[in-house]
Amino acid sequence: FGAQNRVDELLARRLRREPLAYILGEWEFWSLPFEVTPAVLIPRPETELLVETALEALKPASGPLRLLDLGTGSGIIPVVLARELPLASVYSLDCSLAALTVAARNAKRNGVGGRVRFVASDWLAGIRRQPVFDAVVSNPPYIDCQAVPGLQPEVRDFEPHLALNGGQGGLEIIARLCGEIAGVLKPGGRLFMEIGFDQGETAAALFAAAGEYDDIRVRRDYAGHPRVLEARRAG
Ligand code: GLN
Repeated sequence: FGAQNRVDELLARRLRREPLAYILGEWEFWSLPFEVTPAVLIPRPETELLVETALEALKPASGPLRLLDLGTGSGIIPVVLARELPLASVYSLDCSLAALTVAARNAKRNGVGGRVRFVASDWLAGIRRQPVFDAVVSNPPYIDCQAVPGLQPEVRDFEPHLALNGGQGGLEIIARLCGEIAGVLKPGGRLFMEIGFDQGETAAALFAAAGEYDDIRVRRDYAGHPRVLEARRAG
């Protein structure tokens, strides 16, 4: 009887379009388990391409890399990078304390709590502008604010808009970040950023216009859409 009530309750939540990941409180990414709450975006498959792209570039280096993750959310990016790059230390920034709490639990649970440091920061506002990072990785909010009301109810009504809404045209955060990121990357340091399926050219143009990067590239996802922007800090 009790179990049946519980199933009815979970079903009712799903029928109200609550995402399964929030109902379960857990979702998988990179074959690892991650706690998720409504304070964090649910891990998406396209973010695997971001992680893959970063790892391809960073694995050959594999020294004591210093990495920075901007807009950490559930922590999937720093956790996978720390696991795959055993000598790396990762600084993970998010403005949401609720997200950082989830991310810290996920790091601990996946065995990398000692190499991922969590810092409450509104993008780069809370850290020193010194060129100390070998790479910056980010899945920033990049959805056009005008497209937000038309998102599927699971996303629109349950996931944190803070993690999705990229302002007018979806590129406001990326436009602001491209200059600031250059200030914390070592010369030759790399940037890896997830972008929207229609933002390849505009995002690449923003990074080119910042005047501080070379080797700017856009990688397509398995649906053939531009999805990951790569750039190298010049110098
Ligand atoms: N890819 C996500 C979506 O379409 C957006 C993630 C983001 O804005 N970073 O829901």
